[in-house]
Amino acid sequence: MSSENTSEFIGLVQSAFSSEGVLARNTSHFQPREGQTEMALAVAKTLQTGGSLVVEAGTGVGKTFAYLVPALLSGERVLLSTATKTLQDQLFSRDLPQLVKVLRLPLKIALLKGRSSYLCQQRLQTHGREHNLSDKGSIKTLGLVREWAKTTQTGDLAELVGLEERSALWPLITSSRENCLGSTCPEHKACFVNAARKQALSADIVVINHHLFFADLSVKESGMAELLPSVRVVIFDEAHQLNETGTQFLGEQLSIAQLLDLVRDILASGLTTAAGLCDWQKICGDFEKSVRDFRLCIGTQTSSSRLRWTELIPEGVDGDEWQSSLESLHTAFNNAISALDTVSELAPEFPRLSERVTQAKRTLKHFASSPKQDQVRWVEIGQMARLVEAPLDIALVVQEKMLGLKNEQQKTSSLNEINSDLNADSNGSFDSTDSQQISLPRSWIFTSATLGNDETLSWFTKPCGLESSQILQVQSPFDYPNQALLYIPKDMVKPSDPKHSFEVCELAKEIINRLGGRTLVLTTTNRALKFIGDELENYYSQNNEKGVIEVLVQGNLPKRFLMDRFRSSLDCPSGSGDSSATKGAVLVATASFWEGFDVPGDALQAVIIDKLPFPPPTDPLVEARCNRIEREGGSSFNEYSVPEVAVALKQGAGRLIRRESDTGVLVICDSRLMSTGYGRRLIKGLPPMKHEEQMQGLLSFLEQMNESREQID
Ligand code: SF4
Repeated sequence: MSSENTSEFIGLVQSAFSSEGVLARNTSHFQPREGQTEMALAVAKTLQTGGSLVVEAGTGVGKTFAYLVPALLSGERVLLSTATKTLQDQLFSRDLPQLVKVLRLPLKIALLKGRSSYLCQQRLQTHGREHNLSDKGSIKTLGLVREWAKTTQTGDLAELVGLEERSALWPLITSSRENCLGSTCPEHKACFVNAARKQALSADIVVINHHLFFADLSVKESGMAELLPSVRVVIFDEAHQLNETGTQFLGEQLSIAQLLDLVRDILASGLTTAAGLCDWQKICGDFEKSVRDFRLCIGTQTSSSRLRWTELIPEGVDGDEWQSSLESLHTAFNNAISALDTVSELAPEFPRLSERVTQAKRTLKHFASSPKQDQVRWVEIGQMARLVEAPLDIALVVQEKMLGLKNEQQKTSSLNEINSDLNADSNGSFDSTDSQQISLPRSWIFTSATLGNDETLSWFTKPCGLESSQILQVQSPFDYPNQALLYIPKDMVKPSDPKHSFEVCELAKEIINRLGGRTLVLTTTNRALKFIGDELENYYSQNNEKGVIEVLVQGNLPKRFLMDRFRSSLDCPSGSGDSSATKGAVLVATASFWEGFDVPGDALQAVIIDKLPFPPPTDPLVEARCNRIEREGGSSFNEYSVPEVAVALKQGAGRLIRRESDTGVLVICDSRLMSTGYGRRLIKGLPPMKHEEQMQGLLSFLEQMNESREQID
């Protein structure tokens, strides 16, 4: 871009966000916000120069428009990645079409999901059979799928109401990288996965998700490898999840479910296409038995946990049983490969199945040797089990494969130079023969509401290899001192005391009764979730004389239902049907509810956090990360545990105030916040709310909130 074009572009972006600009004229509720304009201009500058920009934009800044407007106005091809399918769908169906219309730009937008989101016609024909399904519900849904398959334009299974992602039918009618027949598929021309990729390749803006991005970075099969070389702008929203998503995909994995799928596919193809040529029942029966014995040898527990695995064998597993299970799996793999190879000429799926077994054999061999020091290995236990080996973070991969940083000398050079190198050298990351190679440096934008607890955002930038990036922190425009109160109960017992959950419950009842529900209780452990959930359910089932307060507990109902029910608790009366007797809801939850749960308005006015959310020290990934810091001479407590708590607290606290008119109390039932140095630093990292330790102060604030709500009502 010439300097004239440069200043013209910056002027265009600035004017879009002004009080008389295109957004103010054409979108409802738009108000110019200093922070939003600041972020938009920083994004615009990075789009011109290339390089990487990390932006932490507090709640209410309006970060989506702040990156979308400059990206759309730049005229560049843009790849936009989100952590969740919900935001992916919202950007594709709401924000992008709205802005394209407002800005009057003739841009083509595409949505690209992972292959398991699309119907596979080949598998629908070969595996989508009634005899492969054991329950009546799935058999009925199969009929719906067949009807819908005749008319769908996209093959995106999200269109099909009534098909659950957990349904037994799903893996039978979708493809995986392993079972897709590729160019040998009879349905190749009509394939929905291929069609979605073609559309993405010809679009100006492509919306993907982090899972897809990293899956492709690791195995280059989702179509992204062709796409990225012709894209000059890459934006990651919800970037705080990048490291965790990336580490999941960048290692090795072998799951019991994957092996059982393989057995099922071999049996189905063998019986359908090569019946009588091999004893498929025996081969697959032995194969399945060896997989199930392998699962049993790992242990009989089914509750979700992670088994440490720092030596040759996972902890707690009998060495002899492990060895003999590996040998029997090895034999089952060899028998399956021999059988499949004898019929390989009969249909394209047989060589593909043989390759899948060979790959599983290779991965098993990898897991039969000791783990490397820069990787962490564990067994993920659930109903099934999964062997996992992952890097401790994504820093190296981001630097080498995304930013093009290849050696120590380059690590010290600026990222802008690196991007120039990458773009000048098409042999850099994401090699491609695509003729649309870009000529300007690539721009990488990373953004989220919470990216760290210091000014360098090191919680995010260090594990993501982005320490040399330009950093911008944009504060939330909310008036926290007047909108919110932080209450840390002074007299509550310590979190380690057995009475702690009971006291949290008693305080929660006091708040819930005064507010009439409107409370989210976030716990750090499943045990506290159960205790507090049961206690509140019992209490409110017996004490409803002042009105119905609905108690929702994570795990009792699907997450989406709980979220929707809580959000609409004030509009949609529950219980007796007497709306005058109905009050709001209480949601008791843990883990995934700490972030991304958006409840603007009066349905949520109190967030109660039971204790500081320290990462579990026995988790293999946490332990390996802490060990590495200690080995390098650092303090794992200060450099890993405290920043993790700070970010989780910010996310939990972020549930409270979602818009300018919201008010609320944040209660953290952990005296360590006041009695330790790190606790006081954690308080400073929270939004600047009024701070109170006396019960009377809390009660007055609750009363004020009730009064102002009643005045508005
Ligand atoms: S090419 Fe792969 S995904 Fe497409 S229809 Fe064939 S098997 Fe299914």
